[in-house]
Amino acid sequence: MAEFDYDLFVIGAGSAGVRAGRMAASHGARVAVAEERYLGGTCVNVGCIPKKLLVYAAHFAEDFEDAANFGWQVGARRFDWPALIANKDAEIRRLNGVYGDVLREAGVNIIDGRATVTDAHTVEAAGRRHSAANILIATGGWPTVPDFPGREHVITSNEAFFLDDLPPRVLVVGGGYVALEFAGIFNGMGAETTLAYRGPLFLRGFDLDVRTHMAQEVAKKGVRLLFDTDISEVTESGAGLTAALGDGATLTVDTILTATGRAPNIDGLGLEAAGVDLNFKGAVVVDETYRSSVPSIYAIGDVTDRVKLTPVAIAEGAAVANTLFGGDAPIVNYTDIPTAVFSQPNIGTVGLTEARAREVCDGVAVYRSVFGALKHTVSGRDEQTLMKLIVETATDRVVGVHMVGPEAGEIIQGLAVAMRAGATKAQFDATIGIHPTAAEEFVTM
Ligand code: NDP
Repeated sequence: MAEFDYDLFVIGAGSAGVRAGRMAASHGARVAVAEERYLGGTCVNVGCIPKKLLVYAAHFAEDFEDAANFGWQVGARRFDWPALIANKDAEIRRLNGVYGDVLREAGVNIIDGRATVTDAHTVEAAGRRHSAANILIATGGWPTVPDFPGREHVITSNEAFFLDDLPPRVLVVGGGYVALEFAGIFNGMGAETTLAYRGPLFLRGFDLDVRTHMAQEVAKKGVRLLFDTDISEVTESGAGLTAALGDGATLTVDTILTATGRAPNIDGLGLEAAGVDLNFKGAVVVDETYRSSVPSIYAIGDVTDRVKLTPVAIAEGAAVANTLFGGDAPIVNYTDIPTAVFSQPNIGTVGLTEARAREVCDGVAVYRSVFGALKHTVSGRDEQTLMKLIVETATDRVVGVHMVGPEAGEIIQGLAVAMRAGATKAQFDATIGIHPTAAEEFVTM
């Protein structure tokens, strides 16, 4: 490959690109990674990591309230948004540095600037042309804003992380991960929070019990839920931002956050001119080895618009590096990917929904439990936890595990291992519980 400057040129230093670049270099490949914005991509800068920090911050509101019945008198409380954002920013800066160090220590050349693909083996970045045997597109996604008059007044999750102050009144538009997570964040911090979703019930694609249970719990926490509601216009006045919500209804707030999905980040990359096939959403079309229609150009992570989760992007990055330079075939298994929504309360889920199981399984048994956690017998909080196991009766295999409740993500991770190992309901039942925990419910249902 010596006729090229690099064996692998990665565009995008997010979760996918960094893993691919680092692992390719560890196999001895000569690697460059170009990044125009921030090292670590969405997850580190405007996604998973800062989001989880804000979720922790929001949850303190309930913790202070719950403390009283446990004998703690907590003094006057005041929430300082700028302090939180400053501390969050400091941690993100630290992580940016870690990502840079990791790449440099692996021998990767980091190119600071925008990159454009000019042909199957050439990338222009930082004012010069670089040739590469292989080019990897790992540019991620970008929030989309629906097309309505006044859309310039709304923000997306990108901006929500950098607001100067906590807005007193917030409207969140959407019914997916980001909408639920930010509704919980703003509500927990004391903002008057409304969530508007265009359909009859949010979290499409999740188990129906999870969706209905979440709607109840989110409403109990004080978020105003408007279903079957679409935003048609936003106007700005001295009173704030007024959203027209169809059928003549309006809502005036200080900030409108649209969380209506993310699109592949391909603008200005030159992919079409280079002959790379894109689908109707603009995602790079790849085969099972992440190769695009141009054999030397690969794509992984959110830019392929498949499973938009950081751990999947990381696994894809490793798979590409190992395939190209390590002599291994890709090994990413897309079945039973566990996932969590860091809403308040959390959702954790792995495997099939009940509805899907009824379509594809040979007989289905459903085990469902709704209960108040031990902590709330004393705190007095009216919060119900939902746990649900879905079992294929013919094989006794557990094919779906769903939870709404505190630490659902932490709990579901372990159960995902059991599911991957093919655990049966009998094996769940034969497992001794840990008492007293919420998680023990999964082995006593
Ligand atoms: P999602 O695709 O999860 O949700 C988008 C929401 O917006 C849906 O409720 C959708 O409704 C609605 N919507 C889409 N278009 C419009 C429109 N034109 N007008 C009104 N509503 C609309 O996107 P997110 O932005 O929440 O998150 C993007 C992805 O990032 C997620 O799917 C997930 O893969 C990932 N992510 C993961 C997280 C985690 O792991 N905790 C956290 C955050 C993001 P409908 O259902 O009717 O189509």
